[in-house]
Amino acid sequence: MNPFDYDLFVIGGGSGGVRAARFAGQRGLRVALAEAKQMGGTCVNVGCIPKKLYSYAAEHAEGFADAAGYGWRIPGQPTLDWELLKANRARAIGQLNGIYEKLMAGANVARLQGHASLVDAHTVEVRHEDGHTSRHSAATILIATGGQPWLPELPGSELAVSSDDIFDLPHFPRRLAVVGGGYIACEFASIFHGMGSAVTLLYRGAQILRGFDDEVRDFAAEEMRKAGVDIRTQAQVTRIEAMGGARRLHLADGGTVEADVVLYATGRRANTTGLGLQALGVRTSEHGAIAVDEHFATSLPGVYALGDVVGRLELTPVALAEAMVLVDHLFGPTPGRPKRQMSYDDIPTAVFTHPPIGTVGLSEQAAREKYGAIRIYRSDFRPLQHSLSGRGERTMVKLVVDDATDRVVGAHMVGADAGEIIQGFAVALQCGATKAQFDATIGIHPTSAEEFVTLREVSRT
Ligand code: FAD
Ligand code: NDP
Repeated sequence: MNPFDYDLFVIGGGSGGVRAARFAGQRGLRVALAEAKQMGGTCVNVGCIPKKLYSYAAEHAEGFADAAGYGWRIPGQPTLDWELLKANRARAIGQLNGIYEKLMAGANVARLQGHASLVDAHTVEVRHEDGHTSRHSAATILIATGGQPWLPELPGSELAVSSDDIFDLPHFPRRLAVVGGGYIACEFASIFHGMGSAVTLLYRGAQILRGFDDEVRDFAAEEMRKAGVDIRTQAQVTRIEAMGGARRLHLADGGTVEADVVLYATGRRANTTGLGLQALGVRTSEHGAIAVDEHFATSLPGVYALGDVVGRLELTPVALAEAMVLVDHLFGPTPGRPKRQMSYDDIPTAVFTHPPIGTVGLSEQAAREKYGAIRIYRSDFRPLQHSLSGRGERTMVKLVVDDATDRVVGAHMVGADAGEIIQGFAVALQCGATKAQFDATIGIHPTSAEEFVTLREVSRT
């Protein structure tokens, strides 16, 4: 007989924690989950979901502008009701919080509301909102506490906001300065530009979106600039100054930028505050991410960690996959299904800029390094939709092929619906599809996606 209160105690009700608790609970195990804030974590409350909703809001502006070419006469100038958008978003997110609570109840997971910390390898203390604490023992503890925005220290950095604050700004910013050049900076630069802000993006390096295929980075930056985002590279902010309600950013080259709101999107750090890890000697990396082995075991036996708090790939589907793999590892596979394994290869991803980026597999640079001889097939074109809209936006598709095996090792797209399109091609890459198999696939006409199966000419080797 298990002497503990629970078989599994999960700390954190985000993407990874909820999935692990639900999978374990559905198998009849005794599971508890503690969440300090709202259920659903970053993705549901201040990440993927509200971000995508605001991205849809921004897309409408493009739609209004494009409509005239299709014969629509729209009287007056459409305006964004920021208060209404915020309220509708909050309502939709509230419904999702409720759905997550129901998922827990449906899987017989005991839900504790409050901040949890580790007392020892088998005991968790939860500080509840009314200040009282409760202690719970568990055979296994899972830390899935995610991450939080990280801002560099510089004079005036307290005047900046992070992505946690951006969804509920009290006033819609007429001018927005965004610092950073990663996913969050680029997405919010596009989104707020679309919703009507004058956006200046300040990135410290030579080109935004480091880590993505270089040609994709150049193409996406060019399209964002064409759309109206003022992207400034090699721009190092040295201090931020308040000017009444507005902000002035001082740059290392002596220049200044003025804005109503400054968004810092300079990365995230593991959320381990008050977990009690140090006292128990749980090993962390230099940036505070919890160190785990290939089975998500921390240095403290019986304690596991996954998702953003271990800082591998900070994506919701990765946290979900890690959770399912861990539950299989700890408690055996779902009856009738093979044991799940985690692979970090060929994980597709999208950046919801306008236009969006979708990518899976290797960049041209990484493939050249890994395989030596490669073939690049790429094309850029004006999508049919814009023949009448008058918008100058172009789309790019690109395949990276290992010359020796003919296998497609990278697929990249910048253009409308890139995330939707690349998701399908990610299956092809998982299956090890060759360029010949892409060529043998019949296209769907007229789409942008068909370009991926009609790329005949090698662009370079
Ligand atoms: P989280 O979802 O962060 O959950 C951790 C939970 O633990 C939180 O609810 C927190 O309150 C709770 N917690 C922390 N400490 C304690 C404690 N001591 N006690 C109790 N509870 C605690 N990913 C995508 O795949 N696609 C996207 O489009 C996307 N967009 C994003 C946009 C933004 C602005 C951000 C910030 C992130 C985005 N991400 C996106 C990343 C994605 O949100 C994360 O990778 C994902 O949420 C990680 O899940 P997690 O379970 O590890 O942590
Ligand atoms: P990223 O790591 O993607 O980008 C951080 C950016 O900040 C980089 O451009 C980096 O520059 C820059 N930076 C870092 N330190 C400093 C500094 N001291 N001064 C100035 N600039 C600095 O982090 P994000 O915050 O954008 O997002 C966090 C993670 O969340 C992402 O990596 C992603 O995994 C996830 N996410 C996923 C999304 C999606 O799937 N669509 C959307 C949003 C987030 P440099 O490149 O030079 O280091």
